[in-house]
Amino acid sequence: MNNKLYGNLIFELSRPGRKGYSLPKNSFGDYNVDSLPDFMKRSEEATLPECDEMTVVRHYTNHSANNFGVNNGFYPLGSCTMKYNPVINEEIASMKEFAGLHPLQPADTCQGALEVYYGVQQSLAALTGLSEFTLNPCAGAHGELTGLMIIRAYHESRNDLKRTKVIIPDSAHGTNPASAAVCGLEVIEVKSTAEGLVEVADLKELLADHSEEIAAMMMTNPNTLGLFEKEIPEIAKLIHECGGLMYYDGANLNPMLGVSRPGDMGFDVMHINLHKTFSTPHGGGGPGSGPVGVREGLEQFLPTPRVVMDEENEMLKVETGNYDKSLGSVGAFFGNFGVILRAYTYILSLGRDNVKMVGPLATLNANYIKESLKDFYELPIGGLCKHEFVFDGLKDKSTGVTTMDVAKRLLDYGYHAPTIYFPLLFHESLMIEPTENESKETIDGFISVMKTIAQEAKENPELVKSAPHNTPIGRVDDVLAAKHPVVTFKQMQDEK
Ligand SMILES: *Cc1c(COP(=O)(O)O)cnc(C)c1O
Repeated sequence: MNNKLYGNLIFELSRPGRKGYSLPKNSFGDYNVDSLPDFMKRSEEATLPECDEMTVVRHYTNHSANNFGVNNGFYPLGSCTMKYNPVINEEIASMKEFAGLHPLQPADTCQGALEVYYGVQQSLAALTGLSEFTLNPCAGAHGELTGLMIIRAYHESRNDLKRTKVIIPDSAHGTNPASAAVCGLEVIEVKSTAEGLVEVADLKELLADHSEEIAAMMMTNPNTLGLFEKEIPEIAKLIHECGGLMYYDGANLNPMLGVSRPGDMGFDVMHINLHKTFSTPHGGGGPGSGPVGVREGLEQFLPTPRVVMDEENEMLKVETGNYDKSLGSVGAFFGNFGVILRAYTYILSLGRDNVKMVGPLATLNANYIKESLKDFYELPIGGLCKHEFVFDGLKDKSTGVTTMDVAKRLLDYGYHAPTIYFPLLFHESLMIEPTENESKETIDGFISVMKTIAQEAKENPELVKSAPHNTPIGRVDDVLAAKHPVVTFKQMQDEK
């Protein structure tokens, strides 16, 4: 495929007067703009590309072929869970009976959709051991914010106003401290042990100093190193004794599904990323869904609207009032219904028994890769991992080949790179998550390429340092791209 032939931007292919469309006649019988009221008309002509149909079709088709997605290759991105998105999910989500609904439609005309919504609320409660879920938040970070607002509302309802601090482990995902800050809470960091788990001795010291001010402790489990936190009962006891609540970041709940439940471990509030744990294509900013669950006693603080069963247990209805302690609305309407539908399809198509295989298989796959590569890449924390794990760069660092170089070289072999330089605990983090649904052959192929790259780093380090060589665009200056993004055609022209 020759992209250059078709240009990089549709604007660059534009030729004055070219057309690839014909407008339908409007209800006035013509498309004379004079028949529009003045306030609806532009004062200047819009800058639109003018192209014939074949040019447009080829341009976008060729660009789409440059996308890398989980549907065209292995995508071992840790902490983001890019898993196979079953086609049945898409079929269900695009059914016109769902896709054509209006969010303000009367409840008695959309009982089917409400049943899906209600079913997901119930399934998540059952899978996590919590009492009630809201599906309104549109992402993990949005769920964190909603959960922390619930925690704040709980303390405020008890007139316990000094509780403005949140304890967060140093290994946490960056959204944890960010959500706390957006919620007006102050972050206190708790250290990790050499094993990568929360250091209880450090936590005790923090609690001794701040016990009356602790609103909550946020934990991720398995944590961002892919390790199962072992001291949760003791940590929960310490936090509860000082009056704080326990928050569970369940963005990546995969290895826990049907195996153990946050509610049983002493957590009070949690979020789940439907777009990670329960399939749904995501990335590049969306779409997502970050349902929030609470234990019994905290339901009254959940946001609205809520989908509830009526008193006769016959009809589902949408509640917006009736909750004087509710946070009110945290977003438009009900959240991302399409993602919720896909999650429900995924849960129901697996069923109660098969859902229990997700965790063990994801865990097996991750440990298989880790053990196969640990002689070539530095494994800072050994032992069993859960669904993901972290290498700290190549084992042999004398060649100067970095994690960034390995990630770029993987692209040459047709693999998406793992998560790199996260978590921040190590300098050369390379975080790998294979998910449960990859075949042994796929995983063996990845292992073999990772070994090849380690070998290349020794024999021909320049080859790896200057990668990628086979992609449409070579190595980009990512610092410049982040600091000075050029995102419109106009900006590009202005800067020429
Ligand atoms: C992805 C992730 C989040 C944030 O979720 P978004 O949907 O990207 O906002 C939070 N915590 C962990 C551990 C995650 O992996």
